[in-house]
Amino acid sequence: MYARETHSRAPSRECRISLDSLARSIAIDGPTAAGKSVVGRAIAEQLDIGFFDTGLMYRACTLAVLRNAVDPNNQEAVSTLVRSLELDMRWTNPTSPHIFLADDDVTTELRSPEIEEAVSLISRIAEVRDELVRRQRAIASREPVVMAGRDIGTRVLTDASTKIFLDASSETRARRRLGEEIDSGRDSSFESVLTATRRRDELDDSGKRALRREQAATGAIIVDTDALGVDQVVAACLEAYHDANES
Ligand code: C5P
Repeated sequence: MYARETHSRAPSRECRISLDSLARSIAIDGPTAAGKSVVGRAIAEQLDIGFFDTGLMYRACTLAVLRNAVDPNNQEAVSTLVRSLELDMRWTNPTSPHIFLADDDVTTELRSPEIEEAVSLISRIAEVRDELVRRQRAIASREPVVMAGRDIGTRVLTDASTKIFLDASSETRARRRLGEEIDSGRDSSFESVLTATRRRDELDDSGKRALRREQAATGAIIVDTDALGVDQVVAACLEAYHDANES
């Protein structure tokens, strides 16, 4: 009797793999340009597991909205479209996530000014967030990932044993973003990038997202990156991961 009860409650092998995969994944949250991608890629490379940039999913949905000429302010039409999308994340190597709309790899099309402008309108829609959270969890239950975003520890990977919140002042973040923009040949000024960074923070500040350290997931390790180099931040995150997964 006891043995049968125990057996019937034990998770199937498939279920154990998926719970284990979610628990072993690493959740990285923080505001725009806090270094989530650089740090997430480096961790993914060290651990040889995929870097999952959830911002790419919101951007790909925004591309689909623009391509289909749906009004980004029409929340019902946007949600219906997003629910119908064939959206997947695939990797050729751990540090390079590729996002597909059906069989179309759209990864390189997602940094245009039109998408930058519209993505916060799409990501504030609760039904869109629910749908993408569901899909992100489904992908992370296939295999462990290093997942970066703004609601990963608080909503998507609530069961992850390693949660990191990367923080930095808006000035530091704007300086980093300016460097990236100059490197990619754009003629930006510090003031315009700082204004855009603060505006993005304001627009993204809703819907259970963690943009400020007091909004970080319970148990998250908060890393203040203002005075730290990438190597130091990565080392702190890897130490947290090894501590959490020692067995
Ligand atoms: O991280 P990235 O700048 O590429 O994200 C683009 C936008 O996608 C963010 O400004 C935010 O509006 C949205 N986003 C989100 N939740 C996530 C990831 C991104 O709301 N987990």
